[in-house]
Amino acid sequence: MKLAIFDIDGTLTATSKVDESCYARAFQDEFGIDLRDFDYSAVQHFTDSGIMDQIFLEERGRKPNTSEITAVQRCFIHLLKDAFGRDPEQFRPLHGAVEMLAQLQKSGEWAIAFATGCWQQSAHLKLDSAGFDWQGLPLAHSDATPDRQDICRTAIGLAEQTWQAQFDKKVYIGDGLWDLRTANALGLGFIGIDFENHHASLAEAGADTIIGDYRDYTHFAALLNAA
Ligand SMILES: [Mg+2]
Repeated sequence: MKLAIFDIDGTLTATSKVDESCYARAFQDEFGIDLRDFDYSAVQHFTDSGIMDQIFLEERGRKPNTSEITAVQRCFIHLLKDAFGRDPEQFRPLHGAVEMLAQLQKSGEWAIAFATGCWQQSAHLKLDSAGFDWQGLPLAHSDATPDRQDICRTAIGLAEQTWQAQFDKKVYIGDGLWDLRTANALGLGFIGIDFENHHASLAEAGADTIIGDYRDYTHFAALLNAA
């Protein structure tokens, strides 16, 4: 059996923009912190919890405590739900993604897991909003760790438990440079996703397989096998 590990934002769902704006707004609403001039390049771990750590280190000189994390998560989820109510299109799946995931599940050849830099509730909300049938599949998120490699290792561990198997092949599917770096660090195959056609950086960073959507399932399955 083989394992396909999917990132979520920008990989399965076209949610990167609404995610960024609601995330920034949650810090404004909850703590009065304006992120317009925030230097994201200084962030060590580009995940919901990793960015929050960096914001608090810069703004308060310390990491956030549990109640601050809970407060900003609650506000963030509320803003995401509100945005979905106003414009569900902001939470659309990438073309063919819902069908691809269903078909991959049925293939019997591939197990599926999710490894996302999102907080857990945000990940669930996006997969539900975009119409994915994902319940019961292993999902690792950034609640417990800001480090994407740890998140990915957790996803693999959860998948091994779920399928009671060691996988012959593991492929990570993601849209970020951090996804490529994680795949390389952990020795996983990689498929880059670039649905808006702007991440020339993935190719520059050495990703040799990049696709824009999942409309051609046969092609995607062939890429997975070759990755
Ligand atoms: Mg992403």
